[in-house]
Amino acid sequence: MYYLHIFDPWKFPLCTCPKKYSVDPYTGCEHRCIYCYITSYIPEPWRVRPKRDFLKLFERDLKKAQKLPISMSNSSDPYPRMEKEKRITRGALELMKRYEFPALILTKSNLVERDADILSSMKSVVAITITTLDENLAKKLEPMAPSPSKRLKTLEKLISKGVHTIVRLDPIIPTINDNIAEIENMIKEFANIGVEQIISSTYKAKPDNFSRVTGVFKNVAQKLREIYYENGEMVRGIRYAPKELRFKILKNVRDIANKYNIPFSVCREGLSLNTAKTCDGSHLLYV
Ligand code: SF4
Repeated sequence: MYYLHIFDPWKFPLCTCPKKYSVDPYTGCEHRCIYCYITSYIPEPWRVRPKRDFLKLFERDLKKAQKLPISMSNSSDPYPRMEKEKRITRGALELMKRYEFPALILTKSNLVERDADILSSMKSVVAITITTLDENLAKKLEPMAPSPSKRLKTLEKLISKGVHTIVRLDPIIPTINDNIAEIENMIKEFANIGVEQIISSTYKAKPDNFSRVTGVFKNVAQKLREIYYENGEMVRGIRYAPKELRFKILKNVRDIANKYNIPFSVCREGLSLNTAKTCDGSHLLYV
């Protein structure tokens, strides 16, 4: 296969995802999230370019693939601004529908609303990442991404059209967006809208994203260094916050999600906190 590949081919020890494929119609991402990890392995990570002959080769891949869900996208956003004209992601959805592959969409873009018609007519779940509702904080964390209020409206629109939705409340960066009262406000909002699952995880540090995060949040740089570099733990070359701290943060989020009756899961944490049937929400494809 050329563009379609099994998700997590490196078998990260803390990944609990059911078997699925992953595909990225575009290389690179324009949201420029300071915590982004693609900068450690994609050249020119902030320059979005469509993949060569994507739809032709993707269709060829689909014809040979097992009937597993396809996650789009994990190393980019499937809805960059140019998608409005190029309609490559839209074309990919049309192919997935035609060949009967369920779609797990992961985005921060309101452009996904355009495809509510096709998404509601096939097996699909849309996960939208929202790390804060504070517009100023969001501008620092995700400088070029649509605002959190736009993303909330997108969730509402998708739900009104019958599309299953998830919020990815991640990454939570200790001392930056881990305020529990604010997290409760967010979750209350998600519950009011009708979001069906919350997936959360803590920030994982790599040298390049850590220097961006501490460059923007200089006031907590020392604290983050203590958390990640002095007291944290390494998992396959990635720096995690100490387990007790991650457990405390994510248990609080889980308890609030429980309070508002939203199933919850963690992503790549190795913590038994899930109440949702699958960590990535793929069970929602079949309800
Ligand atoms: S949306 Fe994802 S891939 Fe794009 S910059 Fe943000 S973290 Fe990176």
